[in-house]
Amino acid sequence: MSGFAKRTIRDVDPSGKKVLVRVDFNVPLADGAVADDTRIRASLPTLRYLLDRRAIVALCSHLGRPKGPDPKQSLAPVAKRLSTLLGREVPLLPDCVGPAIRESVARLRPGDAVLLENLRFHPEEERNDPAFARELATGFELYVNDAFGAAHRAHASTEGVAKILPAYAGLLLEKELVALGGLMSDPKRPFLAIIGGAKVSTKMDVLRSLASRVDAFAIGGGMANTFLLASGKEVGRSLAEPDLVGDARAVLETMRRERKELLLPVDVLCAPSADDAGAKGASAYDVDAVPADQAIVDIGPRTVERYSGIIARAKTIFWNGPMGVFEVPAFSAGTKRVAELVAASGAVSVVGGGESVQAVVDMGLADKMTHVSTGGGASLELIEGKTLPGVAAIPDA
Ligand code: ADP
Ligand code: MG
Repeated sequence: MSGFAKRTIRDVDPSGKKVLVRVDFNVPLADGAVADDTRIRASLPTLRYLLDRRAIVALCSHLGRPKGPDPKQSLAPVAKRLSTLLGREVPLLPDCVGPAIRESVARLRPGDAVLLENLRFHPEEERNDPAFARELATGFELYVNDAFGAAHRAHASTEGVAKILPAYAGLLLEKELVALGGLMSDPKRPFLAIIGGAKVSTKMDVLRSLASRVDAFAIGGGMANTFLLASGKEVGRSLAEPDLVGDARAVLETMRRERKELLLPVDVLCAPSADDAGAKGASAYDVDAVPADQAIVDIGPRTVERYSGIIARAKTIFWNGPMGVFEVPAFSAGTKRVAELVAASGAVSVVGGGESVQAVVDMGLADKMTHVSTGGGASLELIEGKTLPGVAAIPDA
């Protein structure tokens, strides 16, 4: 098992201490309300842990990509949702730094929690400006990072403050690192990676890193199209990257040399276009018979059948990237079936990546997986073998 190397909130007594907690509340909004509260829920164990021990908690997060203060990107809807989930009022303060904010924080009592306004209302946050980090840290005694989804960024609130205040990992950060780190250090075998999504180019390093660790790949989504090109097939008007055929061949070659399996689709769903309009004209074809004027939009039923065998044999599964254009219901069957098969497999199952996680959550299967990561980019950087600055900044236990 991979022991967790970093200091966590269990290594400190937070009672009566003023604690700055970086969370990832970068959630989708719709009509001024939180559209998906997965990330807010994921932060509750750490918040409850600290509040039960009578810490004084100020939460901070970014939301969206504001260029400066912007009421449309206020964390107000998040404060509301968090208050409901926590069953107590968590007020939103009008900023994250400045004398008035420090005064409000100074007046808080043990067991109180507030949310600071969007960190990115200050451009210094993303610049990891040392003076801004010092301002952010002012008035606090401890810093807890629970924002796994932002840990791959060296910003003032994820990296800068950790050098100023005594820094600890929150329970979510720990859980993510144990689950994803376990894939990298000591996976139960056979270890299968199911990789899909839009493009090879965004995931070349993920593929390379995994090629040396897994026992098998099952490839789907737009990514499979470039691999199909690399193995001499025609893909019609599908999303594909001819420039990356060489890289795809190198992955195929590595897998062959190491006597590992790499499964590609044997049949695919094709449509005149990859949107709702194309749904009417969709039908399945053998990979050798993709019509020149159509696009591949999902894996086909025989492919699902083939992938189901390897999924059932796997003891560890990492899944990133949908198998097709799952946002269009008519093209979602491959992704849905694979999600169901992974959920039912009995393997240690870890899902990482923005859209893949969205698909699993939408299908109501998140609870059936061993771990569903809250960090899209961060989870992939970890799988690539990169060090996450927000994690590196926390001292070892
Ligand atoms: P993740 O966020 O899980 O890492 P990506 O961002 O790589 O995944 O890709 C997700 C997108 O890939 C989805 O929006 C989906 O519509 C798209 N996609 C999957 N298969 C195809 C395909 N065959 N053609 C075009 N787009 C696809
Ligand atoms: Mg994505």
